[in-house]
Amino acid sequence: MKGSGGGVRKRSVGVRGWARLLGLEKTVVEAVDEQDGAIVISVRPSYSQRDRCPHCRRRCPGYDLGEGRRRWRALDLGTTLCFLEAWAPRVLCQQHGVVVAAVPWARHDAGFTRSFDDTAAWLAVNTSKAAICQLLRIAWRTVGRICKRVSAEATAGRDLFCDLTKLGFDEISIRKGQKYLTVVVDHHSGRLVWAAFGRDRKTVEKFLDLLGDERCQQIRLVSCDDADWITRPISERCPNAVICLDPWHIVKAATDALDDVRRQVWNEARRSGNKQLATQLKGARFALWKRPENLTDRQQAKLAFIQKLNTPIYRAYLLKEQLRAIYHAATIDDALKLLDGWLKWARRCRLEPFVKLARRITEQRVRVEAALRHSLSNARVEQVNTQIRLIIRRGFGYRSPEAVIALAMLSLGGLCPSLPGR
Ligand SMILES: [Zn+2]
Repeated sequence: MKGSGGGVRKRSVGVRGWARLLGLEKTVVEAVDEQDGAIVISVRPSYSQRDRCPHCRRRCPGYDLGEGRRRWRALDLGTTLCFLEAWAPRVLCQQHGVVVAAVPWARHDAGFTRSFDDTAAWLAVNTSKAAICQLLRIAWRTVGRICKRVSAEATAGRDLFCDLTKLGFDEISIRKGQKYLTVVVDHHSGRLVWAAFGRDRKTVEKFLDLLGDERCQQIRLVSCDDADWITRPISERCPNAVICLDPWHIVKAATDALDDVRRQVWNEARRSGNKQLATQLKGARFALWKRPENLTDRQQAKLAFIQKLNTPIYRAYLLKEQLRAIYHAATIDDALKLLDGWLKWARRCRLEPFVKLARRITEQRVRVEAALRHSLSNARVEQVNTQIRLIIRRGFGYRSPEAVIALAMLSLGGLCPSLPGR
């Protein structure tokens, strides 16, 4: 590198240069001042951006000066707080009435600049709550509001529902037994397409309304569990959709049935005073749950112990494993043969929870087969769900539940803005 001087081109930053340095587009910088330890940059919209309605962007006649000058928090300059300051006049839009005129540097109704909003949203997707709040010097609740704003704009400017053919529906409980989210995931891209509060027919219908009749016709495959509130409206409104019962839910139902059997045997052992057996069975829970290939040595020993006892638990365990194996069959014919065999076995296994499960699967046979034929599972949906749970745990809390959806859409719906200037 050469020293200062020869060969290195320098430009002095005049007032005009500030707009470029700050990444402000269609904005005129009038002055740069320091005030109470902060940098205050006086700006105005460039001529073409003046007097526009924030909703329809049409140019409108001026109405009044509004509340005079106002400030927008901008990204820090080095270590110093920075604000933009400008007049905020109101205009009279034919369609939207009297509204504060749009400004090119900030979203409507925002107290932060566009690049500040985008940075906060990017950080909310990519880093921790504490880091954002300290770095940007804002409250977590403010981050929630920013996410809502950024997500709303991104959703409005993009058609998230085009080309949807394979969907996965699922529900997530947010607070134990209280709030539920219904989520819709595109199997093709793995993206979160839509999320809303509630788990009932109305919620699913709200989504189908948004999708519209024409697009409902285009839906070919839907994976979900066997809940009526999902399957009914879909079979009514998406005539071309094949409903596939999600394997994950089926295997989970088998695991639940196994757990019921284990609990029954455990209760009996306790009641009859067989403490040792009761303790052994209690510790066996994980050995029974896990896939056999994932068992530790100790868990394997536990399983061998249960096999030797030959209680109903071992039968239940084999039933669960056999049902899981159906989804790993090499061909669809093998899978269907295994399914038939399983149903026969389960029906006469004398374990009430599995008899019930066999009945449920028989009733839904067509949909279970469809999942096998199309090898469609909710695995992707579950992945998205796991991530939403993390987002919720990261502390959006329950005070602004819409912010959870907004952040979920930014993170998992592909709506996250890129960092300004990159
Ligand atoms: Zn307007």
